Amino acid sequence: MSVRWGLIGASTIAKQFMIDAIRNQPDGEIVAVMSSSAERAAGYARENGIAGGVASLDALLGQEIDAVYISTTNELHLEQALAAARAGKHVLCEKPLALNAADARKIVAACTEAGVVLGTNHHLRNAGAHRAMREAIAAGRIGQPIAARVFHSVYLPPHLQGWRIERPEAGGGVVLDITVHDADTLRFVLGDDPVEVTAITQSSGMASSGLEDGAMCLWRFRSGVIAQSHEGFTTKFAGTGFEVHGSEGSLIAQGVMTQKPVGTVTLRTERGEEELNFDREDLYTRSLRCFHAAIAGKGEPAATGADGVWSLASAEAALQSARTGMSVAINPGL
Ligand code: NDP
Repeated sequence: MSVRWGLIGASTIAKQFMIDAIRNQPDGEIVAVMSSSAERAAGYARENGIAGGVASLDALLGQEIDAVYISTTNELHLEQALAAARAGKHVLCEKPLALNAADARKIVAACTEAGVVLGTNHHLRNAGAHRAMREAIAAGRIGQPIAARVFHSVYLPPHLQGWRIERPEAGGGVVLDITVHDADTLRFVLGDDPVEVTAITQSSGMASSGLEDGAMCLWRFRSGVIAQSHEGFTTKFAGTGFEVHGSEGSLIAQGVMTQKPVGTVTLRTERGEEELNFDREDLYTRSLRCFHAAIAGKGEPAATGADGVWSLASAEAALQSARTGMSVAINPGL
């Protein structure tokens, strides 16, 4: 039996990655796409070979669908996810799940009550590089983890220089866009939860309306591990990376904070350097595979609703820290 999908949002991410990821599943089918504009819905459906293009949530939820993928602007996720859960549809929602952790918890509660699967599309958990690092740490290959460093400052391409840098009410800003991913990836790779963050943010020339386009965060984890992360929209040549340093070794990954299954992971110990081999499956295709399996009762989505609450609570705490100049405790309230 196939999983019939409805797309909520005629978005770039769906067009670039998620439509293919659904169609890469042996049992994935896309029935319709919803846009707030009937014209854009029709055009998007035509361009992407989708049978239906509709202009209201009710019209989408009234289709013969089993699941929705939500990739609208961030302020819309909450109401759309709640409506989908009420209609009995499984929900794969883009990050951040909502604009604050309290609203994200409402989505988790609604999906639990409706008995539908909820996933957060934190794609980086599906990267072979990050899974290889997580496994190496769990196997003790770097000894006791001590500190981590995340380099995730990029250049926002011109076609995405819209609501992210102009509209606070839509959940713009680099913290809700990228810091959520870094918080989630740190949790995943370290197998640990952040308990406290101190952050500073900047507006370095691209973002307007009081939004930040750069952030540096310092994190403390439950185990005592400390981490730093740098997120940005305005650095064209920085490159990305993810490092974890332990008592017996260091894991140094380069070019891995990205949407593609690329980059390298090096393990450095007293024996020298070793390149770790890892799986190069498309990140979004793996995310969908896990989600389909979860619908079939086999396991959980790669990132659950609770994971989405954690990443948003972390980002919210980072924003509060940047506003107040104080260190802020992270409490997902789960
Ligand atoms: P887009 O800006 O491409 O799309 C967001 C919304 O903007 C769409 O739902 C659409 O509204 C509207 N829109 C798109 N194109 C136009 C246009 N030409 N004219 C007018 N309105 C338009 O956003 P992204 O795809 O970059 O991001 C969407 C969501 O996905 C966000 O929540 C973001 O955080 C997340 N994301 C996640 C990524 C990941 O890897 N996990 C990567 C990128 C984004 P309508 O639907 O009404 O037509």
